[in-house]
Amino acid sequence: MVRGCIRRVVYDTQGVVTDLGRRSRLFTGAAREAVMLLATECVWAGCDRPVSWCDADHSLSWGAHGATVPRNGGPLCRAHNLQKEHDFRVHRDTNGQWHTHCPDGTEITCPPCLLPLVRDTQAEQEAFVLALAEG
Ligand SMILES: [Zn+2]
Repeated sequence: MVRGCIRRVVYDTQGVVTDLGRRSRLFTGAAREAVMLLATECVWAGCDRPVSWCDADHSLSWGAHGATVPRNGGPLCRAHNLQKEHDFRVHRDTNGQWHTHCPDGTEITCPPCLLPLVRDTQAEQEAFVLALAEG
């Protein structure tokens, strides 16, 4: 016996799943799966942690009224997900490219070996941002 199913999935013109027919605060089920299919690694600039180590995360946070739809999500490893609490921002442009920005808006483009993961204090955070701005 052969069994199968039909699943409704709506894509936008960039190939991003925009509607899976369900809404929730967290990316779960098919919505989480769709977010995790947007990349093969953490979407933070230069990070090479595999998606299997990542969380399905809002680009525009839920607290800032970001919708739980795949076009507002991306896989972020736990360390980089925590960076968003320090006002770093990751987003996907209309061409499908991911960008990572410091709290002052500067885009991070340095190689992964120079990227910090977690800073424990505000002073360490400020020193990192200053070092990026100075190049
Ligand atoms: Zn990462």
